[in-house]
Amino acid sequence: MPEQVVIIGSGPAGWCAAIYTARANLNPLCFEGAVNEENRQDGTLPLGQLALTTEVENYPGFPAGDLSGYLKSSLDEEHHWLADMHQKEGCSGPELMHLMRQQAANFGTRIETDDIVEVDFSQHPFKLKSAGGKEVEANSVIIATGARANYLGLESETKYKNVGVSACAVCDGALPRFRDKPLVVVGGGDSAVEEADYLAKFASKVYLIHRREELRASRIMADRAKNHDKIDIQWNSEVADVLGDDESGVKGVVLKSTKDGSTRELDAAGMFVAIGHTPNTRFLEGHLELHESKYVKWTVPFRTNTSVEGVFAAGDVADDYYRQAITAAGTGCMAALDAERWLAAQG
Ligand code: FAD
Repeated sequence: MPEQVVIIGSGPAGWCAAIYTARANLNPLCFEGAVNEENRQDGTLPLGQLALTTEVENYPGFPAGDLSGYLKSSLDEEHHWLADMHQKEGCSGPELMHLMRQQAANFGTRIETDDIVEVDFSQHPFKLKSAGGKEVEANSVIIATGARANYLGLESETKYKNVGVSACAVCDGALPRFRDKPLVVVGGGDSAVEEADYLAKFASKVYLIHRREELRASRIMADRAKNHDKIDIQWNSEVADVLGDDESGVKGVVLKSTKDGSTRELDAAGMFVAIGHTPNTRFLEGHLELHESKYVKWTVPFRTNTSVEGVFAAGDVADDYYRQAITAAGTGCMAALDAERWLAAQG
């Protein structure tokens, strides 16, 4: 018997799709991915990009700060145990992902810690094959394999990830470590300018590091960067090294001129890398429509349909614009409801 729904991926989109399809009695099977060097966030499970970070401050329902006093004043004594559950600060990325995974498992989601490496959407039921050699048939599929931020590839950059190096200004820009300090943004496209513009709200100054003499960003975005009094564009420059120490994290960067190779240092409390993302879609190439950028194409406005009927996509694998945990979870919910309705319509 084919599976009703197979979910591929294990970030907020995948687990949210699993929670909804499990509660709809579709008995989902989720391939959460194999554990490898790239996604081995807490050493045990592949838990999506969010598990690469420390504190998550913008996912609703997990406020930072001690809530127990507030809750105790608004709860009757019988429910004070609820307040005691909230004595910790916020929620870490890995913790949030473990909670989502557990919630999906609690409703009966079956989980395989394995990568899907082959798909055949040319016949129905669809056929899927995992790296571990498992073959499954599925009436519907939800793709939620996410994306990876591109980094420069410097050893020092890896060393200071989460202690000053980030690939997401909206996620991390408001953290106290970056407030009123000089920051560096690497890149020259629209997203680099957007990140610089966003960070300029908190930082004392933002250095935008670009390898060439002109930004790749659209004219309007480039002008915004050039005219911003807090954004200082460092032309013809690339980051050769990230400077810092174990106690305080990033303290600056070494810039190298792309013209004459000369180097200079810049003081900065953080480095935001904005040189694009790579969606995890290689195994889908030729099997459904992808954008030129390799993101999965959503084919119906405000739905999660793809170019193959019965195959849906959720989260960062199809969304190169919002790229947030909450939007990934939201589209995961949408994909689950879309799959449920599509299956019901097949009779
Ligand atoms: P992902 O989280 O990318 O998860 C996809 C999963 O699918 C991965 O575990 C992967 O191993 C698995 N997978 C991939 N290919 C396969 C395959 N072939 N078979 C099976 N499994 C596969 N967002 C916020 O809202 N707040 C934040 O504070 C925040 N901080 C961030 C910090 C960092 C350092 C990064 C990198 C991102 C941050 N984000 C944050 C963004 C957020 O993490 C992403 O938007 C979100 O995780 C996307 O979820 P997703 O479910 O689409 O996919």
